[in-house]
Amino acid sequence: MPLPASLMNEFEFLDGLRRQTDSRRHSTRILTGIGDDASVISESGNRDLIVTTDLLVEGVDFRPEATPARLLGHKALAVSLSDIAAMGARPFWTFLSIGMPRERWEDQFKDEFFGGYLALADHFGVTLSGGDVSETRTGIVIDSIVLGEVNSGAAVKRSGARAGDQIFVTGTLGGAAAGLKLIENGARVRNQHSDEPQVGIAANATHTDGDSIQSLVRRQLRPNPRTGWGIVLGEQQLASAMIDLSDGLSSDLHHLCDESHVGASIDAASIPLDDDVKRLCGRRALDPLALALHGGEDFELLFTVNPGNVARLPKKVDGIAISRIGEITSEPRSVRIKEKDHLWELAPEGYVHFHS
Ligand code: ADP
Ligand code: MG
Repeated sequence: MPLPASLMNEFEFLDGLRRQTDSRRHSTRILTGIGDDASVISESGNRDLIVTTDLLVEGVDFRPEATPARLLGHKALAVSLSDIAAMGARPFWTFLSIGMPRERWEDQFKDEFFGGYLALADHFGVTLSGGDVSETRTGIVIDSIVLGEVNSGAAVKRSGARAGDQIFVTGTLGGAAAGLKLIENGARVRNQHSDEPQVGIAANATHTDGDSIQSLVRRQLRPNPRTGWGIVLGEQQLASAMIDLSDGLSSDLHHLCDESHVGASIDAASIPLDDDVKRLCGRRALDPLALALHGGEDFELLFTVNPGNVARLPKKVDGIAISRIGEITSEPRSVRIKEKDHLWELAPEGYVHFHS
């Protein structure tokens, strides 16, 4: 029996919507509809169009008092670029709709916001091609759409993982969740205009606690989409399945395994913890592994690779390395994690909207 709507969380509702929506009813050109990071629509000229949309709501997806407008503009585009990367696609066009109260329209907000959005769009050669603006009674609401392309049939779906495939993640995990905790405790970003990459402690011997706090706050407020890795993995057909880490590794690995009808076994010691998280968390009674597993918003890519393709993987793309964290198993729904001699079922404990 279906759950009453009031008891459903986001994913239960979307599953129902997906069952009711025959995505091919009106057009056989929709190759992937609801259920992946983006939709895939076949075009002429041996290309598939990749389309994604992401909503940011004031007070829910960002805290206005801690989020400078320029960084909000950056993040609004970054989260959608991340979904395009998760399909192995190259981004080309963006559409942006924004609603804001009159005070935000009249102060510096809109110029700063669009400055951040357009700087990131320029960085990746993406063109703002349309959108809409409206006035809200209270709070800012932003919807960013990004369109990209792949060669026909080359989109990397969540559903392509097979038993024996190796599981990889880009970059490091836990930083964005630690940054959110720091922001909740009053930390604020120092220089919102700096487009410098975050400094790792290995790169700077005089790295202080203050520098670590800034790096983590920026991981939360200014995520870097792994666009380069997405393009390489898609164009060279290296990944069998992929998802971006927006809800948290534990939940997103479950999403990938559910869509592929497989399970996974991962090794806690191989999970690439953010150096600044390790440095600060030990002294603040926070568990870096828990932040990496369940924290979310790292916007790294989680992908699987057939063992025969592992040797073809580049070591780094755009300076970002990857880590092998485990293997796909044939047991559907079973996601296990090994920590020293201990093996446990990893429940999906990442972020869910409308969680009861
Ligand atoms: P992601 O975290 O990758 O952005 P979501 O978890 O937001 O993906 O969404 C999961 C899937 O559900 C996606 O395929 C998305 O397009 C679809 N989806 C989310 N909200 C809606 C909606 N209101 N109507 C139709 N499809 C939706
Ligand atoms: Mg996604």
